[in-house]
Amino acid sequence: MVDRYERLVADLRAEMPRFRIVRKDRSRLHRAIHIVLIGVTFGRMRSYLDSYQTTIGKTVYVTSDWDDWSADQRYVTLRHEAVHLRQFRKLTLPVMAVLYILVPLPMGLAYFRARFEMEAYAETIRAAAEVWGKSLPGSASYRKYVIDQFMGASYGWMWPFRAQLERWYDRILATIDVVDV
Ligand SMILES: [Zn+2]
Repeated sequence: MVDRYERLVADLRAEMPRFRIVRKDRSRLHRAIHIVLIGVTFGRMRSYLDSYQTTIGKTVYVTSDWDDWSADQRYVTLRHEAVHLRQFRKLTLPVMAVLYILVPLPMGLAYFRARFEMEAYAETIRAAAEVWGKSLPGSASYRKYVIDQFMGASYGWMWPFRAQLERWYDRILATIDVVDV
């Protein structure tokens, strides 16, 4: 039996022939990013290699425990990363990288990063509702978890306006018409 994760991987391969999934800890680029992040955060950011799934260009880089995740969890995460794959395809890697990392600020007010992530987290919310029922993204704790991604350290404090993020979240949720699973 093919689960929804495997089906999504096959669909993405059909859509983007050079799409691939690579383990982050086996990538020289990501080991280098890891070392840079330790440097710029004075040692506080040590979890990059084993905490975040990261998409660059046509590649989704995953943590070493990826294969131990449930197929549903991998599916929901890959739905988020698929949005980034399409953003890279639309904007090209150099444009996407500059906008994502630097514009207008690398930390504190990262407008483009927040916009790219809003688009991707909207997909996370929709996929979570599809897999676990709308009551999960509809819960206060899930809403807080998503909004904290924007306001906290994980993405460099990319967007500080909580009320705006809450309105965005509720707007996405309101467009989902799955009742429950
Ligand atoms: Zn993302």
